[in-house]
Amino acid sequence: MCGQCVLHSTGMTCPMTCPKTLRNGPCGGVRENGNCEVIPDMQCVWLKAYDRKVFLPLPTVWKDHFNELRPPVDMRLQGSSSWINLVTKRDQQTPAGWSTTDGAH
Ligand code: SF4
Repeated sequence: MCGQCVLHSTGMTCPMTCPKTLRNGPCGGVRENGNCEVIPDMQCVWLKAYDRKVFLPLPTVWKDHFNELRPPVDMRLQGSSSWINLVTKRDQQTPAGWSTTDGAH
């Protein structure tokens, strides 16, 4: 529903289920048992994503995406089609001042 799907790079784990909607790994509040600091009964989304990434298809392609720097969520795309945003490259537009080190976005 975020309109900028990144499931292929997170082991099919949706980062929008992180209460902070973080897109580049866990915050500093992960509990000792690996659960979320905001929702104590839930495993941290990013620990789950890390564990799941080994099961991704196309291991030499998608696995590498896990370590890419992803831009912050663009809330203007919420509710729009991720597929259309992918094809039109709308999901690659980033906020002013944002750039990734590899220039991929
Ligand atoms: S512990 Fe993990 S799931 Fe919870 S807010 Fe931090 S990054 Fe998100």
